[in-house]
Amino acid sequence: MEELILSQVTKKFGDSVVVNKLDLSIKKGELVSFLGPSGCGKSTTLRMISGFLTPDEGKIMINNTDVTHIPPNKRDTSLVFQNYALFPHMTVFNNVAYGLKMRKIPKSEIESRVKEALIMVHLENFGDRYPSQLSGGQQQRVALARALVVNPRILLLDEPLSNLDAKLRDEMRNEILQLQQRFNLTCVFVTHDQEEALVLSDKIVVMEQGNIRQIGTPSEIFDSPKTYFTADFVGVRN
Ligand code: ADP
Ligand code: MG
Repeated sequence: MEELILSQVTKKFGDSVVVNKLDLSIKKGELVSFLGPSGCGKSTTLRMISGFLTPDEGKIMINNTDVTHIPPNKRDTSLVFQNYALFPHMTVFNNVAYGLKMRKIPKSEIESRVKEALIMVHLENFGDRYPSQLSGGQQQRVALARALVVNPRILLLDEPLSNLDAKLRDEMRNEILQLQQRFNLTCVFVTHDQEEALVLSDKIVVMEQGNIRQIGTPSEIFDSPKTYFTADFVGVRN
């Protein structure tokens, strides 16, 4: 079943076409990575999927509904940013609870759902801390809990691990994979890191300058790159 479909999605800033007629469909439970160099349009694409930006042309469907003009809080997506974007003046508990409060969920349910989300990311004892009292990895876990607590249909991750050191990155990769598999989550994962895309993805979308250069499984992309750009970028060109 197709969970997310982009048809001819285009975004321009001024005269420059940043995302160009993107076509893509993603099935329920798939983890799809957008892989490409800085500036190729990955974040812009995610922002359109999450509703923080509106495409200039094209259509976005989530679960068979046209959401192109639906605001972010009504499309069943959650976005995790590279820089965590936690509220510094709120405790971990309140950071995670925020989206539920916005949705007017009853207090007792908020309590139990936040606890459950904190357990998922191994921070059950950190609810009373403030973001400044946490390590980078812990802050990113809070951001992940905050995204998951609303039970999103689609989880969007924008280079979520790039501010972490190598060891922590490995750990978090595994945690994300475990959560994704446990809940059969549909995920779009943005990265400029070839290895990360290789390890995590069911499918990789290789982007360059707003265009898709290749879509395939990790082995298709790495073993039979179809364009020079893909070959160069994944580092397999002789
Ligand atoms: P990536 O996430 O792949 O690094 P982005 O989607 O952030 O790339 O950006 C793609 C291009 O669009 C870049 O050239 C960037 O400078 C430009 N861009 C992004 N956001 C804006 C904006 N709000 N206004 C003008 N240009 C933007
Ligand atoms: Mg980006």
